Amino acid sequence: MSQKNIRVRFAPSPTGPLHIGGVRTALYNYLFAKHLGGKFILRIEDTDQTRFVPGAQEYIVESFRWCGIEFDEGVTKGGPFGPYIQSERQEIYQQYSEKLLNSGHAYYAFDTPEALDDLRKEFEAEKKTFTYNAEVRGKLHNSLNMSREEVANLLKKEFPYVVRFAMPEDRIVVMNDLIRGQVEVNTKVLDDKVLFKSDGMPTYHLANIVDDHLMEISHVIRGEEWLPSLPLHVLLYEALGWEAPEFAHLPLLLKPEGNGKLSKRDGDRLGFPVFPLAWNDPKSGEISRGYREDGYFPEAFINMLALLGWNPGTEQEVFSMDELAKVFSIDRVGKSGSKFDPGKAAWFNHQYLIQKSNEELAGHFMPILQQKGFLAETEFVEKVVSLVKERVNFVSEFWDQSNFFFITPETFDPLAVKKRWKADSYQQMTELKTLLSKVDDFSASHLEDITKAWLEEMKYGMGAVMNAFRIIVVGELKGPHLFDIIALIGQEETLNRLERGLHELGEISA
Ligand code: GLU
Repeated sequence: MSQKNIRVRFAPSPTGPLHIGGVRTALYNYLFAKHLGGKFILRIEDTDQTRFVPGAQEYIVESFRWCGIEFDEGVTKGGPFGPYIQSERQEIYQQYSEKLLNSGHAYYAFDTPEALDDLRKEFEAEKKTFTYNAEVRGKLHNSLNMSREEVANLLKKEFPYVVRFAMPEDRIVVMNDLIRGQVEVNTKVLDDKVLFKSDGMPTYHLANIVDDHLMEISHVIRGEEWLPSLPLHVLLYEALGWEAPEFAHLPLLLKPEGNGKLSKRDGDRLGFPVFPLAWNDPKSGEISRGYREDGYFPEAFINMLALLGWNPGTEQEVFSMDELAKVFSIDRVGKSGSKFDPGKAAWFNHQYLIQKSNEELAGHFMPILQQKGFLAETEFVEKVVSLVKERVNFVSEFWDQSNFFFITPETFDPLAVKKRWKADSYQQMTELKTLLSKVDDFSASHLEDITKAWLEEMKYGMGAVMNAFRIIVVGELKGPHLFDIIALIGQEETLNRLERGLHELGEISA
């Protein structure tokens, strides 16, 4: 590796919401730069105006803000290599297109879309595929087959044209990829790609390599779908007399089952988002869910993505962003795609949720309670979340796991009652009620001690008594340690519930 400054970029096209595969690409670039003390740049590649979607750029910027991926230079940030939006760099590309034309690495093609369509059909009729390449370019309507005057004349008349790269006819291009190693391609299988159009806009290929060069990008880390473009890019660097950056093409994120790229359809079918934030499609009005709105913590989302394709070489799974930056290296990115696992994503969220302070979790839970009409004390809510946080993956699950702290159960799960409300339950709960009404110290440990002593004295089965008691207190057979629950709801409410339960469930005969 030559000794140059480390500069990497993420270069999305604002064509819609950012797929989580794109977020992962940006993350790996960010970690790579952080690890090596380099710079990370956000560049917007919007040269294909037909695919531009309003709001997409803002969405991209907001996604990274939410995730905690920070850029050193780029849109909204500025920097010495700007502008960082390709549509604002239009005139820069034209000179390089001309340079390639002058050096014979590119040529003007005046073929109309209709003429190319006809050719495509002719080829199809012979069961062949039409490719604009070295084999056919000599017979087509381009500057290679015209005099200088003819070309000048057409240009003067503003005849629509494109500039195409003159792909060498039969040459082995040898490329190095930091993940795949050496890759070789014969230019025979490649076509004369369009570099520039008469509307004054470059195509992705030209703009991308011009910007990577001018922005002094040292490493291009991007998705595997760009690997087929690599020979063209390498040849363009060569044609312009520039040193190419190093390349790393990241393997795909795969569907949870079967093969193929993870798509929005998989997410819709299996119930998980494939976008960082919810996206409201301006054309169709369709709303796609996002990790943020689904209740993921950004740290969990990042941690999960980091491990989808990269491994630390140890058993450690939970990493903060700083820890990731310390250990990240491209050498540990796998060659094959990684299957997305929605269960594991939720597991990561759980890991971060349990690490959070009760104060913070209560802060997230209070608005939900308020919406439901409960104005509980902060201290009480903190105690509730401390008791149930081990049982949830998301803040949104707190209510389901803890509603009995806030409301007296109205109904009792019939299946639980059938199984656990026995002939002697009524008598036992009546005795327990008397016992608990006499207690002064209503702390969980004291309650547990005196209840156990009573159970022993009476030779009652612990399981049977506690299950019946749980049905009365919770309404069903769920929830944390029962003595923690009653200590928190307090003596009066516990006795109320016992009273109500005894009344509702009543005595049943043996
Ligand atoms: N604009 C391309 C994209 O949307 C960037 C590809 C690259 O990183 O070279 O993915």
